Amino acid sequence: MKFGGTSVGDATCIRRSARIVSEAAKQHRVTAVVSAMSGVTNRLIDAAHQAKRGDREAGKALTEALRKQHLEALDALTGSPEGKIPVQRRIEEILAEASRLYEGTALLRELTPRTLDAISSLGERLCAPIFAAALAELGARGDAIEATELIMTDSFHGGAEPLAEATRGKSQKRLGPLLKEGIVPVVTGFIGAAADGALTTLGRGGSDYSATILGAALDADEIIIWTDVDGVLTADPRLVSDARTIPEISYREAAELAYFGAKVLHPKTLRPAVPASIPVWIRNSFAPEKAGTKITAKGKSIGGGVKALTAIRDVALISVGGPGIVGVTDVVGRTFSTTAELRAEVLLISQSSSQNDICFIVAKAHSQSALAALRREFEQDLAHEVVDHITMDPEIAIVAVVGENMRGTPGVAGRTFHCLGQEGVNIIAIAQGSSETNISFVVSDHAVKQALLAAHREFGLANSQPG
Ligand code: ADP
Ligand code: ASP
Ligand code: MG
Repeated sequence: MKFGGTSVGDATCIRRSARIVSEAAKQHRVTAVVSAMSGVTNRLIDAAHQAKRGDREAGKALTEALRKQHLEALDALTGSPEGKIPVQRRIEEILAEASRLYEGTALLRELTPRTLDAISSLGERLCAPIFAAALAELGARGDAIEATELIMTDSFHGGAEPLAEATRGKSQKRLGPLLKEGIVPVVTGFIGAAADGALTTLGRGGSDYSATILGAALDADEIIIWTDVDGVLTADPRLVSDARTIPEISYREAAELAYFGAKVLHPKTLRPAVPASIPVWIRNSFAPEKAGTKITAKGKSIGGGVKALTAIRDVALISVGGPGIVGVTDVVGRTFSTTAELRAEVLLISQSSSQNDICFIVAKAHSQSALAALRREFEQDLAHEVVDHITMDPEIAIVAVVGENMRGTPGVAGRTFHCLGQEGVNIIAIAQGSSETNISFVVSDHAVKQALLAAHREFGLANSQPG
């Protein structure tokens, strides 16, 4: 069971989530994975960047604020000194580490990816012992464990990849005996360790991924991701107010939604669950009586084919083109080797048949470095006008229409574009993979909401009866 930031946002939320675990632990072996209290990771990262600029106060102020926040939560959750004291001590140790990390950063005015990982992981490390203490108050036995002991990764800081076999060995060895004894391991989400022992993180929002990595490593019967919405909805509820919960959805569909920005799941979440066909549930920790969404290999079909919509913002469109590139065979290869070297994931590619323009989309975080790297790669070609432009547009977004049964359902693309046309939404680029589980298109960022509302209405998603 994984609990996201809002599900451990304060003492009341932690108690509610701990109760879900303690109830389940009466009948099953349960491992809990916890995120940082909501907002903490952002604050840790912001202060790290301030420290990098030489600000010595930001880290101090944040460490103080975190001490207060976590000790208050602990106080509210635990009654007995025996429960409280060891956790207070642990919190102090972690905060002392935080102070040293911020001081070092401010002193050197340098923030390496490795240091940033060490800093951004502090929220999870502070939260797990408090959650374990909350379990103890409810009569369950919880043991806080740092995932550096369990999840082995490569050393790509900020977005490390897990090593499945090593993780399996470590997790079973460390957690197996606890589970056998009826103890609930409370594992820090988001983090792992590289072969040299350095702490790594799995990328923002990565606690979902931690849960499925561990679920697979432990041969779990099911993985439940507890969050603050009723499940996977037909669209982001913040943008489409009549979005509905989808009772059952396939790995494939959920992965497409996650990949194209549905924040409810980290994009890589389903990967570890697929080979062993472990069902993944998305449920609401604030309303545990609701069934939520079940994600399985098959999912369940709905008549119309379109199951959900999603949008990904914070992306930029890069185009490489010009009349000179027609027939130059290595432009595509060199373009994407360049992005691959930066590990800048390409979210969508579109190429016109005359070949004089390749455009693709990367996260905004990677856009400047991708642009610079491409300009370096094509320096000679730009000089000789083989390539006459490499440009970037950061004011765009991708909207995706997702559903496994769209395959072989004619007219989905036509209806999508017709309804957008009627709304006056201009489409900048279009892509549909041959799997036909998603049609994605690029629109200007300010048109996202309008595009989602129009398509949600067109496909009747507010009143569709999935299943
Ligand atoms: P957690 O902290 O539990 O990991 P997140 O904030 O990362 O939670 O993800 C849950 C949020 O994802 C929801 O509150 C919702 O606003 C957003 N979201 C975006 N698209 C969807 C969708 N299709 N279905 C459900 N939630 C979505
Ligand atoms: N706390 C981490 C983040 O904010 C991981 C997570 O919440 O999943 O990115
Ligand atoms: Mg999340």
